[in-house]
Amino acid sequence: MDKVCAVFGGSRGIGRAVAQLMAQKGYRLAIVARNLEVVTSAVGSLNNSFFCCIGDHLAFSCDVAEERDVQNTFEEMEKKLGRVNFLVNAAGINRDSLLVRTKTEDMISQLHTNLLGSMLTCKVALKTMIQQQRGSIVNVGSVIGLKGNSGQSVYSAGKGGLVGFSRALAKEVARKKIRVNVVAPGFVHTDMTKDLKEEHLKKNIPLGRFGEPIDVAHAVVFLLEAPYITGHVLVVDGGLQLVI
Ligand code: NDP
Repeated sequence: MDKVCAVFGGSRGIGRAVAQLMAQKGYRLAIVARNLEVVTSAVGSLNNSFFCCIGDHLAFSCDVAEERDVQNTFEEMEKKLGRVNFLVNAAGINRDSLLVRTKTEDMISQLHTNLLGSMLTCKVALKTMIQQQRGSIVNVGSVIGLKGNSGQSVYSAGKGGLVGFSRALAKEVARKKIRVNVVAPGFVHTDMTKDLKEEHLKKNIPLGRFGEPIDVAHAVVFLLEAPYITGHVLVVDGGLQLVI
């Protein structure tokens, strides 16, 4: 049976590294993000890679926070690529600031993208997975969702909520032979962290460096494929959670 995976947030950063690794492992990919130009370029480089037959991977523009958009995107994916039996939720945003200074619209956009978005993609993907009695989902959380961080209360709430959601869903669908896991990264070199003071922050990381997207991608693909692991939260943070 074809291995078809939808990677939300696959146009840049961690999601893009996941897509590259999965392409090398022979998956057919639906790469999804809002900016069609960026996602099309990411898919173009996958389709031109050594590991790919032309057209194996397709680009989709979708806002994960919009239910209709998510439903339409899955319909298109299944028409063009076949049944989606693997799902990675790596779409995410941050609007870091102290709570007293955070605008309500920034609270809503973070929760909609980082939490509701994953709920919506899981809900739609599960229709097919339940029919097939087969499926694997990895949601990308954050070590901040487990430990909290000043200036990131809303982001922490979304990522912490994602853990509760994923563990509950893992119980709900285990009998249908569907697994749900979380990868919780620490600081990783992507657009999201480009303005952080790395020299200062890395002093607190036991392994002494920020992660690279590929470090996280290996953990995501491991959990996607691990046949006897569900409801697990795998922290990929260079040891950061040991000290914060
Ligand atoms: P990037 O900013 O590099 O990439 C984010 C991706 O999500 C892009 O593909 C972006 O594309 C997509 N995206 C954002 N909002 C939406 C939306 N509403 N609908 C669809 N796609 C969307 O971030 P990272 O790769 O760093 O982050 C990936 C995940 O990892 C996020 O969930 C983040 O919270 C989490 N994480 C990151 C850490 C880090 O240090 N980098 C640490 C811990 C967790 P587009 O803008 O075109 O929609």
